[in-house]
Amino acid sequence: MPPLASMRLDAPRWRSGEDDAFSVSAAYGIQTSLGSSNLVSDLIWSAIAKYKGKQRIKVFLWLVCGGRLLTNDERYRRHHAADAHCVICNNGWEDVNHILGQCSAAKDGWDFLFGSIVWNLWLYRNAMVFDPDNVSSEPMLDWSRRQADEALRAYQTLLVVRGNVLAYILQI
Ligand SMILES: [Zn+2]
Repeated sequence: MPPLASMRLDAPRWRSGEDDAFSVSAAYGIQTSLGSSNLVSDLIWSAIAKYKGKQRIKVFLWLVCGGRLLTNDERYRRHHAADAHCVICNNGWEDVNHILGQCSAAKDGWDFLFGSIVWNLWLYRNAMVFDPDNVSSEPMLDWSRRQADEALRAYQTLLVVRGNVLAYILQI
């Protein structure tokens, strides 16, 4: 659409100011708020990038932090579910914060390894929603401890193999 002749000429504007005028305090406020949110975001993404567990858990953590989980409230919003409440505790809408923090099942798990617990909460939630007759009777924390032990052993084995390969190369 071409510009209208009746419109004002282009001019620089400071959108954050009350009267479009630049102010140091508004600029400082924007810089500090962007800086702190970027710092937190960078720390979270960095922690996920450094996660040493299973690759599928790493991808899951990325989905969680990217807001890409298909939770009950999202399914309800898309008209794929009749109810947005949590199927585990029925105490609130099931969004990511509920599944991973506020739900009674989540509160029991936060003292243990982060990635394995988040992953198993998601699996447990999916089983309760889609296949409730075949939910494992094994406690979720047992799955998490076992997976964390397996991930640690695999990581330690990888370090040993890398060390052996390096030692072999250096001998040649
Ligand atoms: Zn719940």
